[in-house]
Amino acid sequence: MINYNETKEACPICRQRGMFLRHLPAIYIIRELKRFFSVAEIPPLDICDYSLFVCSACSLEFAVPPVPGSKAFYDWITAKTGYYSASRWEYQTVVDKISTFDAGLLLDVGCGDGEFLSFVGGLLDIKAIGIDLTQSSVDKCKKKGIEAHCMDIATYMNTAATSRLPDRFDFIVAFHSLEHMAYPLRFIESLKQLLTRNGLLFLSTPYSPVSYEYSFYAPLNNPPHHLTRWNRSSYIKLAETVNMKIDFLMPVAESPFKRAFQSMRIGVRGYNSTIKELPFLIVAHPLVTFKEMYLQLSRERFNGKVLPDIIMAQLSF
Ligand SMILES: [Zn+2]
Repeated sequence: MINYNETKEACPICRQRGMFLRHLPAIYIIRELKRFFSVAEIPPLDICDYSLFVCSACSLEFAVPPVPGSKAFYDWITAKTGYYSASRWEYQTVVDKISTFDAGLLLDVGCGDGEFLSFVGGLLDIKAIGIDLTQSSVDKCKKKGIEAHCMDIATYMNTAATSRLPDRFDFIVAFHSLEHMAYPLRFIESLKQLLTRNGLLFLSTPYSPVSYEYSFYAPLNNPPHHLTRWNRSSYIKLAETVNMKIDFLMPVAESPFKRAFQSMRIGVRGYNSTIKELPFLIVAHPLVTFKEMYLQLSRERFNGKVLPDIIMAQLSF
């Protein structure tokens, strides 16, 4: 049974009223995951029924109930090839920002198998450590000689209070973590406590809706994988709520052609699709191709620039 009240669900950031968007029954989520990954069966992943709401004040989209993916869900999904990006736009962008500082201590929250920690360690003389909830990912970090701990942020803070683990960082990065959190505000308040007065906190998430979910459902940008869906105004409200300054760092959006084709490819053929399939898709789905081009040309702009699929916020005191 779906447990929610269509008129009383409040935004997890600003507590204003949420407006009901859609139901996402477990059976639908499972069917979409199978389609997306082109598999006939998936193991039991303990997925519940969700509903999606949008905040009437800050336009954050949020899942009710705020139940994150189970351990079985994350064990299954993190084993998919390419789940952790070897290279992200955020990596160099953050290195460029922090390389102007003398030294520092960096925490990577949701470090995965340590791709960013390896990257930053190879470029800057900086002490960097990571935390992640997936033990197999933490084990991979340790094999690479990276200091990583399998714990959430609350456990880290408790542990740091009674151990030699650092309890203040000059830089904290949380790439694609915020949207997985059941309590995003509590998460940011914890990160704020761990940040030095002159420190910088970098958060990145998809910019929702992402360009490939106009015509197709994107199971990985929805619950149980993503419990919140972010845009500029929801980030601005987040910064206001935790009383921090905010700056945005965003990549240049792909061309409308590339976005339309990516949407077609992922939407029709799923996660394992390749660029080679594109000509066949266009021939087989001419109307979808036309509609996609139109939708991509209409994508939201800010200051005249088309919004990309990623947004990174830099928060400071
Ligand atoms: Zn809100």
